[in-house]
Amino acid sequence: SVTVAANFLRTIIQEDLESGKHGSVVTRFPPEPNGYLHIGHAKSICLNFGMAKEFGGVCHLRFDDTNPEKEEQEYIDSIKDDIHWLGFDWDGPVRYASDYFEQLYDWAIHLIKTGKAFVCDLSPEEGREYRGSLTEPGKNSPFRERSIEENLDLFQRMRAGEFAEGERSLRAKIDMTSPNMNMRDPVLYRIRHAEHHQTGNKWCIYPSYDFTHGQSDAIELITHSMCTLEFEDHRPLYEWFLDNLPVPAKPRQYEFARLNLNYTVTSKRKLKQLVDENHVSAWDDPRMSTISGFRRRGYTPASIRNFCDMIGVNRAGGIVDLSMLEFCIREDLDANASRAMCVLNPVRVVITNYPEGQTEQLELPRHPKTDMGTRTLPFSREIYIDASDYEDEPPKGYKRLSPGVEVRLRGSYVIRADEAIRDTDGTLLELRCSYDPDTLGKNPEGRKVKGVIHWVPAAESVECEVRLYDRLFKEPNPDKNAEGEDVHFLENVNPDSLVVLKGCRAEPSLADAQAGEGFQFEREGYFCLDSKDSQPGALVFNRTVTLRDSWGA
Ligand code: ATP
Ligand code: MG
Ligand code: MG
Repeated sequence: SVTVAANFLRTIIQEDLESGKHGSVVTRFPPEPNGYLHIGHAKSICLNFGMAKEFGGVCHLRFDDTNPEKEEQEYIDSIKDDIHWLGFDWDGPVRYASDYFEQLYDWAIHLIKTGKAFVCDLSPEEGREYRGSLTEPGKNSPFRERSIEENLDLFQRMRAGEFAEGERSLRAKIDMTSPNMNMRDPVLYRIRHAEHHQTGNKWCIYPSYDFTHGQSDAIELITHSMCTLEFEDHRPLYEWFLDNLPVPAKPRQYEFARLNLNYTVTSKRKLKQLVDENHVSAWDDPRMSTISGFRRRGYTPASIRNFCDMIGVNRAGGIVDLSMLEFCIREDLDANASRAMCVLNPVRVVITNYPEGQTEQLELPRHPKTDMGTRTLPFSREIYIDASDYEDEPPKGYKRLSPGVEVRLRGSYVIRADEAIRDTDGTLLELRCSYDPDTLGKNPEGRKVKGVIHWVPAAESVECEVRLYDRLFKEPNPDKNAEGEDVHFLENVNPDSLVVLKGCRAEPSLADAQAGEGFQFEREGYFCLDSKDSQPGALVFNRTVTLRDSWGA
């Protein structure tokens, strides 16, 4: 029932295979390990791994690890977990751009020897000044005409650690007047006296993204290098390196639009700030747009893959409505999640005409349509229902309990409210009801009962905490306020994005819930056990999504 939207890259790959341009497809997913993956990365994962799978090819996982200061092993591990969780696996070993540092260094020497690269002594600030702007051409560096010998000597000494950070860089010799800023003698190597998570202290010069990416694609014989549109302007440089180096293949770069979701940020830098400044509990906080956040929130891998199919792949971009993602998880859980009952705001009900000391074991189906087996609910004289399911003076159309009115307890008997016992301040303490013993699994004689409410047994239910989540940002575009003016995205954090309910009561079968297993709590929404904070005897459930799209209602 999910519609697969157009994907122009599928067409290109198909044509390349049919025309014999490529015998098989090789793609790569190239994250920088400087944060956890977010829902935007899921689009890139589904595209790269998905196309390889669809056409019988392979997809590599390659960490784009050229910024040692910002990268960490924790991020590498989480990225691998997220890819596996989404249902994909890479071909061959985990690869790192840093695996190619020696080869890249040799290629830098090649460019120096062919007069196409030089060591520049401009400081980073001076470099920016010389670079010009979109409206102004750049100026040649005064170091551009150094001899090949001097360049070779200085570059080797850069590698040997003789210079301080920022003192020198290696730059390509292309064209300081190019309208494309990326072609204005781009930096190929910068000095960083930093330890690297893969190469340790072996290097103190690190290649730039541009000098690394295309050549890594060439080394790995990537056929279709798919990246987001901000790299479109980098493509001429990507090709310049491939044209000017003795690379084993000439891969091609294709660009597609980034996924942007409203009420959400999809930038590792911003997500990191939310974590670092404690706006959320961690990278996998269920409100985060990270893949691990969605997992902890109760999203399934299939729901995210379906979402990526639905949005398609094009170059036009735009902003996708968060409700589309919610539609996908709701659809999955409606079909596959076990039903259960949990009372979020419990009030005790005493069924005065039910024999004391008696208990019946009721069997309820786990799913109304699919055979998923049953669960057992004990029924006896005392139960809990939700406080919102009783009104002394019911509003028009109210189909729940009120004085003298009957409702059906889901999977159980029909009860009638006889008396509400209140505190002196009016707080509802207890309801006294009576049941009709002749209504288990059948309608009462001669009257119609309209409402059905959920309940749990008082003695056997388990106390739990329930966390209700709302969108993390108040505004559809977190970078704008309600008036459409630019603001810092942190100003738009929704203070009500998390509501914690304590003392909720779950039906006994929920004591066996597993993290990652989805439930429909009847009449309340879809929930899952929290994978981090829940303990046997102190259960914590997360609301994944509401039963219906209630936005703007
Ligand atoms: P961020 O700005 O969040 O750090 P990034 O693009 O720098 O994102 P990378 O780790 O370099 O993050 O991304 C790995 C791959 O995922 C790249 O090919 C990138 O183009 C792609 N990607 C990143 N964000 C999105 C997005 N929002 N939609 C689609 N693809 C994305
Ligand atoms: Mg990147
Ligand atoms: Mg980035």
